[in-house]
Amino acid sequence: MLFKLFFKRSFSVGVSNYQRTRIMSSSNLQPKFDKIFNKIDELKPSFIDRLAKAIEIPAVSGDESLRPMVVKKSEYLVQELESLGFTDIQVKKLGTQPPPVENPNLQLPPVILSRYGNDPAKKTVLVYGHYDVQPAALSDGWASEPFKLVVDEEKQLMRGRGSTDDTGPLLGWLNVVQAHKEAGIDFPVNLITCFEGMEESGSLGLEKLIAEEASNYFKTTDAVCISDNYWLGTKKPVLTYGLRGCNYYQIIIQGPAADLHSGVFGGVIAEPMVDLIKVMGTLVDSNGKILIEGVDEMVAPLTEKESQLYEKIDFSVDDLNAASGSNTSLYQKKEDILMHRWRYPSLSLHGVEGAFYGPGAKTVIPAKVSGKFSIRTVPDIDSEKLTKLVVDHCNNAFKALNSPNKCYAELIHDGNYWVSNPYNASFTAAAKATKDVYGVDPDFTREGGSIPITLTFEEELKTSVLLLPMGRGDDGAHSINEKLDISNFMGGMKTMAAYLHYYAESPEN
Ligand SMILES: [Zn+2]
Repeated sequence: MLFKLFFKRSFSVGVSNYQRTRIMSSSNLQPKFDKIFNKIDELKPSFIDRLAKAIEIPAVSGDESLRPMVVKKSEYLVQELESLGFTDIQVKKLGTQPPPVENPNLQLPPVILSRYGNDPAKKTVLVYGHYDVQPAALSDGWASEPFKLVVDEEKQLMRGRGSTDDTGPLLGWLNVVQAHKEAGIDFPVNLITCFEGMEESGSLGLEKLIAEEASNYFKTTDAVCISDNYWLGTKKPVLTYGLRGCNYYQIIIQGPAADLHSGVFGGVIAEPMVDLIKVMGTLVDSNGKILIEGVDEMVAPLTEKESQLYEKIDFSVDDLNAASGSNTSLYQKKEDILMHRWRYPSLSLHGVEGAFYGPGAKTVIPAKVSGKFSIRTVPDIDSEKLTKLVVDHCNNAFKALNSPNKCYAELIHDGNYWVSNPYNASFTAAAKATKDVYGVDPDFTREGGSIPITLTFEEELKTSVLLLPMGRGDDGAHSINEKLDISNFMGGMKTMAAYLHYYAESPEN
């Protein structure tokens, strides 16, 4: 053991990846972090208690009547930050919430900025988290009151709204500070917190605040770390380096001046719904292939290096079937599923506004219908170019129908994709930390969905962003019985701590 220790210390800098892997795998013990890891274990009851107090406040940002509770939770966080010795705590008001709102004077919940340490010799890591939660009620089918943290000793998990999304991970950063203080270990970096209370409702006001603070409060930031997503599955830790974007469109087909009866007008007028179905049918085929010309050509080619990342990932078609509750997968091979979820675009048809959709057999001819669809975007798709291709495609498809109706296709909203370099200093530090805590190399994953604020941080602060998830894929973040396994809570905090140390030591930013 001593021999191994010597090697680890002497070769901690400047060894090749191969050597490093060999040294790391030669021992499961990480004496370097013994003290801090032990302290985190020792403080477990007080960490669970801190989480329980936070979970008790029903900070549902999407429910106007609960806005005072969101504010109350922000006050609880400020009190905790103060007691832990965070400084320069700023409660940033974001003004009134824009419509649609019932109360026109509804104030947005504040963003909480704070610092721990301000040593110019150290690197600065900005950590983002959100303290608001999704709605939840016992009557939705929860096994226990959602706003009371239940510790299930048998299953070794904690159940409660916000446990994994995102109160547990957010408090993880505070707990890591407390553990360093109580263990008497110098905190390796300057920490900046950016905690918002509106994430589940579109992060209103946050983008503007980040832009404003980029050259002020956030000026010294070297790296951003967001702990607000999940492992792909339930067993293997992951680091996330990419998210798809989303361009949302509608095709409006306008025909007669009012809805008509098919017994009177059927067969003698051009029906908007028929045109719409035909146009929408030209967008994508049943195998998921996008039929709009020029889209595939914009997708960045797969490199050898990227391809290798997929081979190692712990995932199978069974995981997909379990998640979808069916056997409807378009692909059987793991690599195909993951690539089509993460690195290729997809087009989904969502619905038709203005069409008859209820049960029964209504004989209406809708006068005006809007077909909604979206495209999940990936590198190197340019949003403007894509919109032009989509609009041209819809117009041409409609023209081919020779219909006297009117057709109009438009973009409703777009959010760009994000892809980081999984080999940069921040990811490398997080990978080492993960290995120290869980004993395995993390899978490098991307996600099919979007976290728009990730890109905002990267662009405004001109720093790298790391997504470091704490919970598992089956935590039920927006569902009933949201939970966080205790091992993920503890392991997650240890990973956060070790990440900060490794990142502080790394020669680059
Ligand atoms: Zn979240």
